[in-house]
Amino acid sequence: MKLGEIDVRLLSMGPFYLDGGSLFGSLPKPAWERKVTADARNRVRLAMNALLVRAGGKTILVDAGAGGQSDAKMREIFGLDEMDPLPGLLAREGVRPEEVDVVINTHLHFDHAGGNTRLENGRMIPSFPRARYFVQRAELANAMKPSERDRASYVATAFTPITESGQWELLDGEGEILPGISVVMIPGHNLTIQAVKICGGGRTVFSFADLFPTRHHLPPAWIAAVDLYPMTTLETKKKFLPLMVREEWIAIFGHDPDMPAATFRERDGKIEAQAVELGR
Ligand SMILES: [Zn+2]
Repeated sequence: MKLGEIDVRLLSMGPFYLDGGSLFGSLPKPAWERKVTADARNRVRLAMNALLVRAGGKTILVDAGAGGQSDAKMREIFGLDEMDPLPGLLAREGVRPEEVDVVINTHLHFDHAGGNTRLENGRMIPSFPRARYFVQRAELANAMKPSERDRASYVATAFTPITESGQWELLDGEGEILPGISVVMIPGHNLTIQAVKICGGGRTVFSFADLFPTRHHLPPAWIAAVDLYPMTTLETKKKFLPLMVREEWIAIFGHDPDMPAATFRERDGKIEAQAVELGR
């Protein structure tokens, strides 16, 4: 999809599988199983939705999926071996790894940052040798020193090689990264997660990762159990929803396999999502 001079394409990596209880938090299963079907292990099929953006002669990635380095136990729990890996999706778009100029990680959980790095000769190295990698400075600090509560979400091989190669651009809060491309804080999932806002040609694409993991999370109280600060998620959702409705932003759900991109409209006091085709 073209936003003026900016080209935005979807890189949907999937499937992967997450426990339905983790995905829908305090909601009882009878409420969420009307929307999605769980497998025999109570897991729900999801995707990892990243973006390929071309703007001002630069090639930009927003998030990088899980990559290939997760250990056997994680691969089994989340069904990662079935996933389309990022390098193949990029190749299909005609993008070689050395052509990526910028990677923006919304946060460093393994399902968003794992693709930052890859295995070569038994060693983890940056997947994109020329890229500058943007993340919040406080998120990298959290990732290096996670709590017992979120330790399982971070895999050090997704970010330590970027530190070693000196490829980080560490951000302190909101700001513009390139003309038309900025980051916005969306606390709740954790306190240091950022969304990426892309504006051009009078339209806005808003990639908010885990703020609304799927379209089923549009009602403010549908909040995943993995969120560290669910009451903050609630506030952040209520802050951005009216804006996204009013300005017809194109929202990118971090993990929706069937409707990765959508615009929202309000009907009878409820927000509804309408699919948008971004090209993949
Ligand atoms: Zn996620």
